[in-house]
Amino acid sequence: MIEDNLKSVTQRMAKSCAKSGRSCADVKLVCVTKEALVEEINDVIDLGIVDIGENRVQDALYKYKSIGRRCLWHLIGHLQTNKVKDAVSIFSLIHSVDSIHLVEEIDKCSKRINKVQDILVQVNVSGESSKFGLKPEELNGFFKKSLLYPNINILGLMTIAPESRDPEESRPYFRKLRELRDEINNSQLTAHSSQLLSMGMSNDFEVAIEEGSTMVRIGRAIFSG
Ligand SMILES: *Cc1c(COP(=O)(O)O)cnc(C)c1O
Repeated sequence: MIEDNLKSVTQRMAKSCAKSGRSCADVKLVCVTKEALVEEINDVIDLGIVDIGENRVQDALYKYKSIGRRCLWHLIGHLQTNKVKDAVSIFSLIHSVDSIHLVEEIDKCSKRINKVQDILVQVNVSGESSKFGLKPEELNGFFKKSLLYPNINILGLMTIAPESRDPEESRPYFRKLRELRDEINNSQLTAHSSQLLSMGMSNDFEVAIEEGSTMVRIGRAIFSG
């Protein structure tokens, strides 16, 4: 089942890339395993998946103990300051950074282990009060301040579209994130090359790819049904 689901997801990704004139190599699949067992994670790794996404540091640590560095670990859920030390010890990319306070802590813990931590900045494009993330108008200030922290590397932006049955409803939020990325890069507020866009989940990844996603985060379409 997982194998068939994975095939179907990668075929749908390829179709969306073709439709929007993009190369498949520019869109990475992060397999979201928050509801998967360790055996299932090993299965998808055996099937060629390299990038594994977890939304809680504690769960990831537990799974990491048996799976280790057979894959690259992505933190996609909210990060609390008191979990930063553990987070920088295992994650290749933290998608959910949403405050300078968190940047400061990540920088400090990374320095101690001689690491430059790759991060994405989570943006609350929809403005829903239930969502984490910076407001679009806070991004400029955030990027300026982040220049003070040498042990972080901002690779791009991340967002979660509001829940909806119709994937087309996600399109304006994805488009907005792409525009924000382009503005930041044009204004040269960043010493980094912040080109990545982490956007698109099981229900809306095709639209996300059409709008420029470079990283889709997919769980249910791989592990259920
Ligand atoms: C769970 C989760 C996903 C994956 O969602 P699916 O609907 O299972 O594909 C992606 N991103 C974040 C932040 C999540 O928490």
